[in-house]
Amino acid sequence: MNFVCIVDKEIILRKDENPLTGADFENLKASNPVADEFTENLNELSVLALASADNLSDLYYRVTLREYNVDHTTEERFWAYRAKALTGWHKETKYCGACGAKLVPDAKFTAMDCPECKRIIFPRISPCIIVLINKGDKILLARHSYRNQDMYACIAGFMEAGESAESAVKREVKEEVGLNIKNIRYRGSQSWPFPDQLMLGFTAEYESGELKLQEEEIADAQWFDRDNCPASPKPGSIAYRLIHEEF
Ligand SMILES: [Zn+2]
Repeated sequence: MNFVCIVDKEIILRKDENPLTGADFENLKASNPVADEFTENLNELSVLALASADNLSDLYYRVTLREYNVDHTTEERFWAYRAKALTGWHKETKYCGACGAKLVPDAKFTAMDCPECKRIIFPRISPCIIVLINKGDKILLARHSYRNQDMYACIAGFMEAGESAESAVKREVKEEVGLNIKNIRYRGSQSWPFPDQLMLGFTAEYESGELKLQEEEIADAQWFDRDNCPASPKPGSIAYRLIHEEF
């Protein structure tokens, strides 16, 4: 069993770097309020979500999931990110959206059942696209108006209902920076459970058009040298892989 303890966007780890055990869960629960606790036998995952972690003993420390992503294995990231995703989903999935009845956990799947209209509600995943646009030796990075305002990043956005991922890439780029692109290629994906995104990573080439920024969304966008650009996504993230051609 893999024991994962989270609090908001952070994960609690042991200072001696040993994996958490059931005994650690008892320790942590004794001095901190619990928000959620569940076990998934299928994934050998046991999760403790704390409402706050103001009383951590000297045995433990906390680190953001973004930092945790940098130097842990794909399997370890899966457990941590699944813990975060399911905790958020539990919090928001208490009543049936169709008939309003109180939901109950499904006996077989990680899902919630409506006892009245018999719907089964599975954990929600929201697909998003993220794209790095190349123009010769240059790459396009943008600074957003309201999120991560100090950071240049790839163009990204939620997919719309009915769209293919490739159409979403074209639309987002046109909307946010006014450019037409070509040679859109899928490069990989990453779970981003803040709260429930799946980032689908693409590269594309500039085709035509002048930079024209969508004012409400984009504060600045520029062509940068790949080796000398201001973007600072963490290693292990899909943005880092796109910028550093790790695919
Ligand atoms: Zn229902």
